[in-house]
Amino acid sequence: MREILLVRFGEVYLKGLNRPLFMRALVDRVRHAAEPFGGHVWLKDSRIYVSDMNDTQACARRVAQVFGIHSVSIAKEMEKADFEAVCQAAIEMMADKSGSFKVRASRSDKKYPYDSPQINEIVGGRVLEANPNLHVDVKNPDYTLVVEIREKATLHIGRIEGAGGMPMGTAGKACLLLSGGIDSPVAGYMIARRGVRLMAVHFHSFPYTSERARDKVIELARILSTYCGKIDLFIVPFTEMQMKIHQHCPEEMTTLIMRRQMMRIAERLALRERAQALVTGESLGQVASQTMEAIASTDDVATLSIFRPLIGFDKIDIINYAEKIGTYETSSLPYEDCCTVFTPKHPLTRPKLEDVREGESRLGEEMETMLQACVDGAEKVIVEDGVLVKGPKPEGEAEG
Ligand code: ATP
Ligand code: MG
Repeated sequence: MREILLVRFGEVYLKGLNRPLFMRALVDRVRHAAEPFGGHVWLKDSRIYVSDMNDTQACARRVAQVFGIHSVSIAKEMEKADFEAVCQAAIEMMADKSGSFKVRASRSDKKYPYDSPQINEIVGGRVLEANPNLHVDVKNPDYTLVVEIREKATLHIGRIEGAGGMPMGTAGKACLLLSGGIDSPVAGYMIARRGVRLMAVHFHSFPYTSERARDKVIELARILSTYCGKIDLFIVPFTEMQMKIHQHCPEEMTTLIMRRQMMRIAERLALRERAQALVTGESLGQVASQTMEAIASTDDVATLSIFRPLIGFDKIDIINYAEKIGTYETSSLPYEDCCTVFTPKHPLTRPKLEDVREGESRLGEEMETMLQACVDGAEKVIVEDGVLVKGPKPEGEAEG
């Protein structure tokens, strides 16, 4: 008898011409997730299996985070010919339980000497006999012991919910505009979950925004990389651009014009790195720069599609999501973002596109040079599978 993982994925991948591509990507990602635990991974009959793990629980949790996985169960596996061993395993698995239970058998091996109702009855009877703290409830049991007779016999109770979505790398690559806030990491997670590989861009206005603010963003990218694999994060020196906007453009439009520059720079980096879309954490009406008019004025400068997966989300929904993926705590650290440094007192909430274009034109011919300097000056940080691979080591608390 040994412990294995039963890993389930959506039937959606089983349809259409893309199936081999999806399956290969999915098995690769599961293999990658199980590797640190020494797990052996294989695909058989629309299921992925993992065996020989040095830490079953931890490996199961890790595999459940793989995009495209619907659920994972930790199971005991044995030769099906030895029906007494199946009963013994059932007794052992239920030994520390109390309350109600039922056995749910299924068999794909129709030549097996017992059919499903018989397995339910025999195994259920043996468990009941061995543990007086249990009683049977077939309608609403506390525990369902699942017995499957396929090539081998497996037994499991319960399942870990998987991340869902599509296997990483099957839907192209996108560029996430990653601030230090709560929203953009969640937006990145959502797009990545659809099978999209991420790169990220962060605008940093040193010394108005501190090195700790930058480190916070690197930490957010690192957390995202536990789900998304490798992320190249580009830290763009944005101070000069912001200063120039502040000096030359109408005050009530500075945030909007700054956003337009962010989009232009992110798009240039995205195209250079072969990403096909931009992703932001905007949510309609959340702040002055997220009205329909304000959003239209940023769309105005981009040629790539802009994905805003949080557009219809309430803040509370976004926070719940951030807690679930583990970015909330880091996002809540009170470090400044470049958006908050030069905020106008009375920002335009319903800007007219013509006015914003005119306001921006006051940057003159210098604008192009500044844009390119931002692109060329971007510092590349690499995070992969939860590890900072290349980049500055986070500052200690000592910094003043
Ligand atoms: P977040 O919580 O993601 O910071 P927010 O609600 O604070 O979002 P804004 O500050 O208006 O909203 O930013 C809107 C979006 O613009 C962000 O979600 C992010 O995608 C992008 N963005 C804002 N500031 C930066 C930055 N310094 N670097 C990169 N992207 C940024
Ligand atoms: Mg923000």
